[in-house]
Amino acid sequence: MRIILLGSPGVGKGTIAKLLSQHDNSVQISTGDILRSAIKEGTELGRKAKKYMGEGGLVPDSRIWEIIEKRLMEPDGRKGFILDGFPRTISQANQLKEILKKLNITLDYVINLEAPLNVILERLTTRRTCSNQNCQEIYNIRNNPPAEGNKCKKCGQTVVQRDDETQEAIAERIKVYNEKTAPLVGYYEKEKLLVNVESLKADETFAEIKALKIQ
Ligand code: AMP
Repeated sequence: MRIILLGSPGVGKGTIAKLLSQHDNSVQISTGDILRSAIKEGTELGRKAKKYMGEGGLVPDSRIWEIIEKRLMEPDGRKGFILDGFPRTISQANQLKEILKKLNITLDYVINLEAPLNVILERLTTRRTCSNQNCQEIYNIRNNPPAEGNKCKKCGQTVVQRDDETQEAIAERIKVYNEKTAPLVGYYEKEKLLVNVESLKADETFAEIKALKIQ
């Protein structure tokens, strides 16, 4: 499948992307995960991105573009990809359109995941993430806690709260989403690619997307 997952921070893009990628071997391309790895590794990209991410703002388009262009060219993406967290602005969407045209790739769908604001806020404040860059399993302290001692059930590494999941950063991320990313819903509606899917229970959301029978 070749899809984009759209939706507010905390709507479940990462969780659904993982399920879809396990289902048909499409690669999950998460700009957020790539940036968090760059911060951990202390690369130039990571140093530049850290400030924006910690405050809940967007990393400049030029930096994001470097990541995406490189990542889309890698051979594993030929089987299919799930874009999670990209595009986030109209300008990123225009750039993506150009490169896909150049590579002769057409998108199957843009899935817009939807959940009420109170559900999203609750998820963001109770979410925890595995600190192992190669795992990044997502937990929730209320209904899907990590193992004893805050350990990841998959890889055994420590599970942490993300730096950008403080109250202030969350408020900023929601504001930025409404201003910069929400207009993409109309953008992809015009392109006749948009499908709205409710994102309350991961297994039901996953089943609804699978039912679209994307090759
Ligand atoms: P995410 O894990 O998708 O919620 O992304 C975490 C943070 O990484 C965001 O709040 C942004 O600071 C940054 N980020 C991720 N993807 C993008 C993008 N496509 N454009 C700009 N900033 C991004």
